[in-house]
Amino acid sequence: MVLVDLNTGALISDPQDVATVLEPDADTDALAAAAGGNAGPIAISFPSFVDGRGFSLALLLRERHGFKGEIRAVGQIIPDQGQHLLRSGFDTAVISRPEDTDTWKACITRMRLNYQPSARNTLPLRWDASRKAALALDKTLSETDDLIERIKALRGAIDGRIAFSTSLGLEDQAILHAIAKSGADIDVFTLDTGRLFPEVLETADLSELRYRIRIRLVAPDAAEVEDLVARDGVYGFRQTIENRKRCCEIRKVRPLSRALEGAQGWLSGVRREHSQERADVPLAMWESERGLTKINPVADWSEERLMSYIAENNIPVNPLHARGFVSIGCAPCTRAIEPGEDPRAGRWWWENEEQKECGLHLNPNREGKAA
Ligand code: SF4
Repeated sequence: MVLVDLNTGALISDPQDVATVLEPDADTDALAAAAGGNAGPIAISFPSFVDGRGFSLALLLRERHGFKGEIRAVGQIIPDQGQHLLRSGFDTAVISRPEDTDTWKACITRMRLNYQPSARNTLPLRWDASRKAALALDKTLSETDDLIERIKALRGAIDGRIAFSTSLGLEDQAILHAIAKSGADIDVFTLDTGRLFPEVLETADLSELRYRIRIRLVAPDAAEVEDLVARDGVYGFRQTIENRKRCCEIRKVRPLSRALEGAQGWLSGVRREHSQERADVPLAMWESERGLTKINPVADWSEERLMSYIAENNIPVNPLHARGFVSIGCAPCTRAIEPGEDPRAGRWWWENEEQKECGLHLNPNREGKAA
């Protein structure tokens, strides 16, 4: 018997002693105990080469229990299974016929790249390349704070449709201006929740005339809205957080997902100064949930920088800003704020600060949290 390294096909001359041996019918408790008990190798037994349960156990050890140590395959395994062992999370295999060593090595090293995700490569190959491209774009964008140059750079870096979801707020108007000046081909849309202030639509109309750009209105599914109102009432979103989140889901999140289908890039006006949750959003990042690159081209701008850009370029803005409205969402869920108040204090003001997100912007730097 010899031990083969599944990463290289080389033989291991001084193997570590196995700490635990798992049989193929090991349950969750046994897996947890093995993963948490020690850092030594865990051996998984294959009573027959047609018994695939050991592959699942290795994957569970890696993905569910976060085991980082060596996983060793022992028992009835054949060289053809080498690649699958590797992709399931095994590091080594005990082979019973030393004369098969060269065959094992050939089987293991024949394919070095896999398109599908596995315990080895947690992202599909295409997405891993996209993630690296997004990191490169983030670096490129950070080298200038000229917004028009940033728009040109991101347009040049991303093939396919880039969608810009605008709320017609200050940041988005600055971005719209830069898109128009750059001449970049970008699909501009706004989520028409059915509850917008008239001033938002007037700003959209004025911007279309000024920039000669069509702003698509993306509406929620009519039947879903009818069901929502029948269930929760006209202003049901004020009664509970769950109601409010359901309303945002139907009027905003789902229409956004629909509008982003097939897009390779998504532009938004998120800035780090907006909130604690947004404090570290990058200029560009790969969003694996949606399978696209999200770009926040004014993420690092201060409010002062934003306001001077708007003033210098005479950019049309929503007249509500002059009446104390800073962050503007749906009319029933937005109020003006007092000087010195948090910019987002006027959104869903009846809720706790940490619950105030509608789920449109996910910040991957803060796991599981919206930004
Ligand atoms: S902001 Fe208010 S009205 Fe608009 S979708 Fe959310 S809960 Fe509904």
